[in-house]
Amino acid sequence: MPLTRRQALRLGSAALAAAVPPAVQAQAARRQLVCSFSILADMAQELAPAAVQVTALVGANADAHVYQPSPADARRLGQADLVVVNGLAFEGWIERMIKVAGYRGQVVVASQGIQPRSGGHHHGADPHAWQDLALARRYAQNLSTAFALRWPEQRDEITQRGADYLARIDALDRQVREWLSAVPRAQRRVITSHDAFGYFGAAYGVDFLAAQGWSTHSEPSAAAVGGLIRQIRKEGVRAIFIENISDPRLIERIAREGGARIGGTLYSDALSLADGPAATYLRMMEHNARSLATALQG
Ligand code: ZN
Repeated sequence: MPLTRRQALRLGSAALAAAVPPAVQAQAARRQLVCSFSILADMAQELAPAAVQVTALVGANADAHVYQPSPADARRLGQADLVVVNGLAFEGWIERMIKVAGYRGQVVVASQGIQPRSGGHHHGADPHAWQDLALARRYAQNLSTAFALRWPEQRDEITQRGADYLARIDALDRQVREWLSAVPRAQRRVITSHDAFGYFGAAYGVDFLAAQGWSTHSEPSAAAVGGLIRQIRKEGVRAIFIENISDPRLIERIAREGGARIGGTLYSDALSLADGPAATYLRMMEHNARSLATALQG
C-alpha cells in the first residue's frame, strides 16, 4: 500500500526510498489532476504538463447533474494535487464531496469570468458554457493560468500547449460558423432532451427547444412534452436529437408522436468513449455542429 504524504514526510526521503519499490515511487511522484467531468478532463489533458495524470470524476456518456460520488472517487479527490470544476452550479455535489474527501488544495473554476446566460423561465444561470467555442477559449486560458501557478517549473510547456490549443479552438469555431451559416436562419430549429445548448444556440444562431431545463434532475412535464410535439406538427421542426447522457425514450416518443425522424445523437454534458465520435472536446463540438448542419439542411 502506498504511503500517504504525511507518512512519507515522517519517514524522510531516504527511508522512503528504501521502503517503497521504484514503480510505486514513480506512480506517487506523478501529479494528480482531478476534473469534475470528462469534457474538462480532456481540456486539462491538452493543457497540463505531460507528466501530470488527469482523471475525471464523471466519465464518458455519464450525467454530471445526477452524479453520486463513490467512496473510491472521494479517495481520488482527497489525493489530488489540483482540482478543476466547471462552476456555475453545474457540480452541485462538489462542495460536500471536497469536505468528505478532506481535500484542502485549490479548486480551479474553469468558467471563471464568463458572463452566464440567465433568465427566461429558468432559475439561476446556465452552466453549459463549454458549448460555445469562444467561451471554451476562456476555459482554456483559465486552466493554463492555474496550471502555470501550480507547476511553475513547467511554465514554458504550459504556455506552448495553451497557444496550440487556442489555435485549434479558433479554427474549429470558424468551421462551425461556416457550416451553420449555410443553413437558412428560419430552418435552424432543434429539439433536444435537456436545455444544454443555449450557449451553442446564441453563438451560432440556432434555436433549441428542450423537454427538460438546465438540469436533468426533474422529469419533464407533460405540458412541455406536449408543447414539443405540437411544435413538430405545426411548425415543422425537423431536427430532433437524442443526447448521449439521457435516456433516449423521451425523445423517441416526442419524435414518434410528432411524426418526425431522429437526426442523431448530440454530446451535451459528456464525451463519448474513446472509440466514439466525440472522444475529445474538439471532436465533440465538430460532431455536434456537423450533425446539426446536416439535419437542418435536410
Ligand atoms: Zn446539462
